[in-house]
Amino acid sequence: MMMKRRTILRRAVLVGLMGAISLLLGSCGEESTGEASSDKLNVVATTTMIGDMVRAVGGDRIELTVLMGPGVDPHLYKPRPSDRSALSKADLIFYNGLLLEGQMSSLFDQANERGKPVHAVVAGISHDKLIGAGQENDHPDPHVWGDVELWRTALVEVVNAFVDADAANATQYQARADAYDTQLVALHEWAKKRMAEVPEKKRLLVTSHDAFSYFGRAYGFEVLGIQGISTASQAGVADVANTVDLLKKRGISAIFTENSVSPDLINAVKRDAGVKVGGELFSDSTGAKGVMETVGGETYDVSTYVGMIKHNVNTIVEHLK
Ligand SMILES: [Zn+2]
Repeated sequence: MMMKRRTILRRAVLVGLMGAISLLLGSCGEESTGEASSDKLNVVATTTMIGDMVRAVGGDRIELTVLMGPGVDPHLYKPRPSDRSALSKADLIFYNGLLLEGQMSSLFDQANERGKPVHAVVAGISHDKLIGAGQENDHPDPHVWGDVELWRTALVEVVNAFVDADAANATQYQARADAYDTQLVALHEWAKKRMAEVPEKKRLLVTSHDAFSYFGRAYGFEVLGIQGISTASQAGVADVANTVDLLKKRGISAIFTENSVSPDLINAVKRDAGVKVGGELFSDSTGAKGVMETVGGETYDVSTYVGMIKHNVNTIVEHLK
């Protein structure tokens, strides 16, 4: 009953559009009214995960700019002049929120003050589902896309934003969002089943930073990010030593690097604990454009959100089971 759809074909179109947008960056009007030269909406998304969702919902009604490409660390990302320009031209802006894009907050505030529709896609998630909410200093974990079921909440935010901005095409946006949601529902079920292949005792995921807490909660894994929740913090000798102890105690044989973080820390643990690196996970961005991966007879595009999750799940299961 559930159909798996692929969104590979849209990529070629998007690359062309992004090129066109970057040519336009010279002349930015501070008081843009949102009327683009074409009748398409100019849309800006911060991360590749949000970009994938926005592209799926907006379809051919939008021109999309994704600010942070594959492998870019959003915690440390400093906006470029071209980002300011893209934001000032945008009709609609989507970002993650929960301080993921820590260095960009003031730009979102400014855009908001100028009357731009600026949407944090996590806005619809109820506070009690956020990891770290209600604790001291209350800085909830921003890596919500790790739980596919929770990420569907972001889809609701995105489609509502499109409907508000362009009500005449509401049915189109809703239909495309429904199709994307069908993919997410199937992906969540698949991930649950696949992760269950790892014996309970071995369900410990060690990575560089805490990008996988929602993922772990959703799919029954303990997670340990050596650096903590943001890559802006440094791990100490004690963090490395504790991780080594834990790996030995649990008999875990593989740990993982991340595509948006330096592998140095993981390599230090690897040496001290005598474990192997099971591969690179996509933590805070999808994989690179044009990279296809085939596992168990199924081929997927790792630059999509679905492909990102499939890569992560397959990589973890293959090395820990
Ligand atoms: Zn992160």
